[in-house]
Amino acid sequence: MASIFTKIIKGEIPSYKIAETEKFFAFLDINPNAKGHTLCVPKREVDKITDLDRDSYLGLMDFAIKIGRALEATVRCKRVGMTVIGLEVPHVHVHLIPLNEMKEATFQHKVRLSPAEFEALADKIRAELKKNPL
Ligand code: AMP
Repeated sequence: MASIFTKIIKGEIPSYKIAETEKFFAFLDINPNAKGHTLCVPKREVDKITDLDRDSYLGLMDFAIKIGRALEATVRCKRVGMTVIGLEVPHVHVHLIPLNEMKEATFQHKVRLSPAEFEALADKIRAELKKNPL
């Protein structure tokens, strides 16, 4: 069965999309640790990061770094943290989390955004990415 992220990539489930390339897709995490928490995923459905071949891994990191730069330019934070968990969704994804405090990296601290706030945030990040296209 297709993962929830494959359904998002195919547009079968809505998301607050940030960017996509031929191979990768980025969207806002629906239950964010902090404002701007973004997920970067390969379009090809692979379970674990350790299952990725070298090119896919390096491509995902390159994509995530570029999205991370746009987040740092958009969201007030000390830096963007990157982590890979995968306990909930078996489709490899990189969490990019704009961090001000360590608790935002714990996945036990969550913030609530309205749909309008998610959309406005995604708009700002997309506008920033237009300055440095992927
Ligand atoms: P994990 O697999 O443990 O790395 O966590 C999966 C992440 O995906 C969590 O942070 C969820 O909030 C996020 N998530 C799950 N479903 C969706 C969705 N439909 N849209 C955006 N983010 C999601």
